[in-house]
Amino acid sequence: MSTPLTVTRITHACQLIEIGAIRVLTDPWFSQTATYYPGERSASSVAGLGRIDAVVISHEHYDHCDLDSLVSAGFDLAIPVIGPGTVASLAKAKGFGNVHAIEAWESATVGDLTITATPGQHGVHEVTFVLQSGERTIFFGGDSLRVPELDTIPERFGRIDLAILPTNGLCVRPMNLEQTVMNAQQAAELTAMLKPTLAIPHHYAFHSGRLGDQMITKTDQDPRHYADAVARIAPDLAVRIVLPGTPVMIP
Ligand SMILES: [Zn+2]
Repeated sequence: MSTPLTVTRITHACQLIEIGAIRVLTDPWFSQTATYYPGERSASSVAGLGRIDAVVISHEHYDHCDLDSLVSAGFDLAIPVIGPGTVASLAKAKGFGNVHAIEAWESATVGDLTITATPGQHGVHEVTFVLQSGERTIFFGGDSLRVPELDTIPERFGRIDLAILPTNGLCVRPMNLEQTVMNAQQAAELTAMLKPTLAIPHHYAFHSGRLGDQMITKTDQDPRHYADAVARIAPDLAVRIVLPGTPVMIP
């Protein structure tokens, strides 16, 4: 029997991934500001998360790296934090004591969990991740653009149980609408390469407020565009759109 694998989206790109007894939190976000709104509820406070064995962070943007909320809620600073060097420096500065800096194709281990950074591309330095434990393999796409090298993940890591991908194609208005996150079509194309048992979109409900949406960001907030694109490109693959707080067991 394979190791139980369950994922529960907390909000946005913040996911609680349980692989057997290991509990991993990704891209923590537990607050909001005048220009950053999750656009959906948060399924848990920091205190409500229960035991966490590792925190995995793709890049330093506030909506993925809300270390201040962890610290102010009394999160145990001895819990390992894994991310690229940019995130590692921040985490150390905030007082985290067990920080692992990994860049693309480098790995760290926490107990029976192996975390490998995979390439990412975004407005700032970013990595994505492959998490492996007990024969289970998960791809976590943060809010990266589609990087061609990601297509090699199945060759390198074998069968993917779960792929979590951003889909809002975020464009930054003051930067000539430069795209910084993969869009629904690009996420579907990557999904077709990864061929996961289940694909779950995230990073789509987020908005910048009424004014911010006019001045700062342009996004696709409808994850059904991704589900439809996968159905067109790779109709055999399963996609599930998940509200925050709904645990999903991967067979
Ligand atoms: Zn970002």
